[in-house]
Amino acid sequence: MSFASLGLSDALVRAVTERGYDQPTPIQTQAIPAVLSGGDLLAGAQTGTGKTAGFVLPLLQRLSQQPRPVAAHGRAPIRALVLTPTRELAAQVEESVRAYGKYLPLHSMVMFGGVNINLQIQKLRGQVDILVATPGRLLDHVQQKTVDLNHIEILVLDEADRMLDMGFIRDIKKVLALLPKKRQNLLFSATFSDEIKALADSLLDKPALIEV
Ligand code: AMP
Repeated sequence: MSFASLGLSDALVRAVTERGYDQPTPIQTQAIPAVLSGGDLLAGAQTGTGKTAGFVLPLLQRLSQQPRPVAAHGRAPIRALVLTPTRELAAQVEESVRAYGKYLPLHSMVMFGGVNINLQIQKLRGQVDILVATPGRLLDHVQQKTVDLNHIEILVLDEADRMLDMGFIRDIKKVLALLPKKRQNLLFSATFSDEIKALADSLLDKPALIEV
């Protein structure tokens, strides 16, 4: 199995090859075609399985294949939102977005608490296609009206079980209420408590199911 045979474009195959990946991991083999098809996804995957590339690669491809919404004030709106439980994970995921997307004309940003919000506000004034964020700081920006979530096409909840363990469920629900109804939703979790199942039921529409 190769990355190209999963339907990924030359720009993405080149980027993963440069990263030293010879072939997709099991979660990638399953998740990449599922996400490329445009449907929702519920994936059970531990960290270390290659789950990040499993959603980042097809997310980048979908965004690059669809035209950017019309720009207002010199920039187009944010199109994909990835929520993570911690800053470390947010930083890692955004680093992956940049590495895999290096041959695509897409721009990403990472946002988390504990750092100067004004620098983030400045960055949000530029082009951001993909936002990787922790829920609390994202809501700070929502309150200050410095972020626009009205054009999100793809939502990813990464390590959703950890986000719930850390008490983010109310923040997540607040964010969900701000997103357009028509969008693709991907939920990744290592464990499936009743709370995660309830979140998945309310969030996902006939999701493809993957477990590795
Ligand atoms: P993750 O589970 O997404 O945190 O990824 C775990 C590690 O596996 C990261 O260091 C990735 O760079 C690496 N990785 C992801 N996909 C592949 C692949 N197809 N081949 C080799 N390494 C990979």
